[in-house]
Amino acid sequence: NARLAEADPQIAALLDAELLRQQTTLEMIASENFAPVAAIEAQGSVLTNKYAEGYPGARYYGGCEVVDQVEQIAIDRLKQIFDAAYANVQPHSGATANAAVLHAIARHGDTILGLDLANGGHLTHGMKINFSGRLYEVAAYHVDENGLVDMEEVRSLALEHRPKVVIAGWSAYPRQLDFAKFREIADEVGAYLWVDMAHFAGLVAAGLHPSPLPHAHVVSTTTHKTLGGPRGGAILSNDLDVAKKLQSAVFPGQQGGPLEHVIAAKAVAFKMALEPGFAERQQRTIEGAQLIAERLTQPDVAEAGVAVLSGGTDVHLVLVDLRNSEFDGQQAEDCLHEVGITVNRNAVPNDPRPPKVTSGLRVGTPALATRGFGAEEFAEVADVIAEALKPEADLESLRKRTAALADRFPLYPHLTPHA
Ligand code: PLP
Repeated sequence: NARLAEADPQIAALLDAELLRQQTTLEMIASENFAPVAAIEAQGSVLTNKYAEGYPGARYYGGCEVVDQVEQIAIDRLKQIFDAAYANVQPHSGATANAAVLHAIARHGDTILGLDLANGGHLTHGMKINFSGRLYEVAAYHVDENGLVDMEEVRSLALEHRPKVVIAGWSAYPRQLDFAKFREIADEVGAYLWVDMAHFAGLVAAGLHPSPLPHAHVVSTTTHKTLGGPRGGAILSNDLDVAKKLQSAVFPGQQGGPLEHVIAAKAVAFKMALEPGFAERQQRTIEGAQLIAERLTQPDVAEAGVAVLSGGTDVHLVLVDLRNSEFDGQQAEDCLHEVGITVNRNAVPNDPRPPKVTSGLRVGTPALATRGFGAEEFAEVADVIAEALKPEADLESLRKRTAALADRFPLYPHLTPHA
């Protein structure tokens, strides 16, 4: 029973390398965050050994008296955070949560209506080679020339295609959706409304973004983005008929044994989301994104052909439009990587470049807000990004500025290297 460093020095060294990478660079991938050390501890626990097919109090395995309590605590906390009547914390990821949702409320061959992938939608909302695009007929709505979801188009597509499910939710969109309007449209055509709040769940939990729960038949989420927990998924609903279908769609419909070690980590993160510091962190997250949007709309940046989609943001991310810049998405991502900032390239609407290159960047603030960044630090980061995206930038001096920020906000100081 040797510890990791002895049992597998190769993997131990790589874990150390990844810890160092996270500590010494600025993480700005909008879908990432830093799980609390307490959640990492819960996830790296003996609960990984336990089979628990079924649900608390109704398992198909013996010895579940402890994990039953763990899972029930996670469920109760999640219901409390979002004021929901029903919660399922078993989905292994956002994508499997979404598969279970469609499994519950649609039949293969039914039509689903979601935001187009290249306009900010997610793979599981109907992308051609994803299960969602293969098993269901897909209609997709888009954003208009200002980068906003066109609700007129949503309505006319709904009337034309009569979908079984209308999907509201996104992976790359800087504004809030009108859930009441989506529900009105869904009701008009007799569709279910499914909101995928994977990205903005943390903002909803903090009361800084409208909640979809009063409007949607079902809400899915991930637990690792703005919500700040371990990698995983969850499903919520206030409609008890739909909840019944969701419960059996997850197990046995979609999954076998739940990952109780991850569920324990989710419970830890949910506890933190109910504590006062959480809302303050989400506030810094949004303010940071707004500071970045503001800096990237200044004349000196516009001169370099850089723009911000929709002109700003209400959430935790900024979509940078590089269509008129001398950088494409890949080059801009590489350039920021060189100065110590990690982001991902992202397609813009009507992107002239292929999906592997793109003409945009998605820049997110949740991880840095978790690290402790406030207005002053986000203003500094914003300026570094603005300067880096200009031609002939002095990358070396920008790298020093990001390193100084990383030094000032130590990440996981109590985690010690394995090797
Ligand atoms: N839904 C949305 C809106 C997402 O952005 C994502 C992930 O990026 C997912 C679902 C899928 O989550 P996961 O990567 O955990 O499968």
